[in-house]
Amino acid sequence: MRTMPTENLPSLPHPQERRRLLQWMAQSALFATVPAWAARASRTANNATDSTLWPQDSRVPGGVARLSLGPASARPQATAGEAQLLVVGDMIEWTALVGIALANPPGEQSIEVKTDGLARTVSYTVRDKRYVEQRLKVSPKTVDLSPEDNARYEREAAHLKTVMATFTEPLPSGNLQMQVPVPGRRSSSFGLRRVFNGQPRNPHSGMDIAAPTGTPVKAPLPGRVIDVGDYFFNGGTVWLDHGGGLLSMYCHLSGVDCKIGDQLQTGDVFCKVGATGRVTGPHLHWSVMLNRAMVDPALFIAV
Ligand SMILES: [Zn+2]
Repeated sequence: MRTMPTENLPSLPHPQERRRLLQWMAQSALFATVPAWAARASRTANNATDSTLWPQDSRVPGGVARLSLGPASARPQATAGEAQLLVVGDMIEWTALVGIALANPPGEQSIEVKTDGLARTVSYTVRDKRYVEQRLKVSPKTVDLSPEDNARYEREAAHLKTVMATFTEPLPSGNLQMQVPVPGRRSSSFGLRRVFNGQPRNPHSGMDIAAPTGTPVKAPLPGRVIDVGDYFFNGGTVWLDHGGGLLSMYCHLSGVDCKIGDQLQTGDVFCKVGATGRVTGPHLHWSVMLNRAMVDPALFIAV
């Protein structure tokens, strides 16, 4: 096993340069086995490999690491623990987009990569990030759960674990920049260490957007509806699958205008803002999940 440090982001070839290189590869005898692939790639190079359309690199708990995997004739397979990773790019430069869980400790981390049958480890460093504490007052029965509510919560958690493990193809197109699902004030509350009625609970793993009950919620990227439910903490909830282990979740909804299996395009309305579940008032809770890690949605919003 070989370890390749990837502390610094590589400077990717400019899209036009990349396209010229792929065109040359398509015509070159050296690459006789891949001319059709390279010709196709050269036509789509601007989209599939435009790194400005990927999430920002932020190597902190709750962030995303963009790790260069170098060139290879076919897309490398990359994994972190049990989770398969999203690999984007083309044969000139592949990049793994790695979601870093909020619970991930700072320090050295690594992923496993298989390229053309060879396995290696790629390591990177997660920096520390101190998220501030948020104190909230909510209905006491949503903090000290009755045995019935606790049993319900555990059933829901087991179900959601299977939803979160979703990894499907086709992989998302090169454009991973998301549109904000509802207009409104976006709180920077991702990662806050939350204390409900004086008791510490899980950190806040999404972005809250203030909006009145009934505001239509729009799909931020093309995606398929993979779960619809009414959950104890999250209230009315919809999960979307964008492919390649990139998922998004919408909570506290007052209405759901979609069903499991529906295919949505960017901008399609599929649910409505509400105040269901454990909330202090109407808003949209929006989570983005990459390789089973909740990451900061702000990293995906077009700047
Ligand atoms: Zn929230």
